[in-house]
Amino acid sequence: GKITIAIDGYSSTGKSTLAKRLASALNYVYVDTGAMYRAVTLFALNHNYVGATEDIPSLIAALPNIQLKFVPNKTLGLSEMHLNGLNVEKEIRTMKVSEQVSKVAAIPEVRTKLVEMQQKMGDEKGIVMDGRDIGTVVFPNAELKIFMTASPETRATRRYKELLDRGEAVSFEEVLENVQKRDFIDSTRETSPLRKADDAIEFDNSDMGIEEQFERMHNFAQR
Ligand code: C5P
Repeated sequence: GKITIAIDGYSSTGKSTLAKRLASALNYVYVDTGAMYRAVTLFALNHNYVGATEDIPSLIAALPNIQLKFVPNKTLGLSEMHLNGLNVEKEIRTMKVSEQVSKVAAIPEVRTKLVEMQQKMGDEKGIVMDGRDIGTVVFPNAELKIFMTASPETRATRRYKELLDRGEAVSFEEVLENVQKRDFIDSTRETSPLRKADDAIEFDNSDMGIEEQFERMHNFAQR
């Protein structure tokens, strides 16, 4: 059967950077589950189900109308999130979405839909999936589980640089506050809260360069 690697942890711990490199080194499929929660959130924002006004029951009723697809971009060598046929890869990374995503991700019906989709993903070879509940809920029998942590300042600094690179006008304080708020909501929600699976390896990468992180991860994966 396929080999499953689950990478969970707090916001902006560098999960996706590492998961992508690991997947490409092992020639496995990489899946960013955060992109899926972000796309549902963008849909909710577009329909005013969250944001200035709120209508969660209508969002739940509209869930069957949400089509998500990872579409490979051969030029960039990565997959991009498409929501109902539109490429939303850029839009789902904005602060507007980040501010609402943890609220949307706490809705049990949203989680049920996305977890079902995630469990069907991957090919015969293997899959590297990053998120919050991959080792606990999506793939509790994963061959390898990593739980990534880093200090809030390290994480906010990474996230802040990413947003600046994308040309978003944000302050460091705003980003730090968002990262901490999401972590709080993610780890205190009732449905599959963010937590380290008992058999996950905890990995703090606060003071580690990307090469060293990758070497360590690759060693874990080889065992
Ligand atoms: O990984 P990323 O930071 O893009 O995820 C955005 C948000 O989506 C998280 O803060 C969390 O609320 C939600 N999420 C989740 N479960 C996952 C992946 C993401 O609840 N497996």
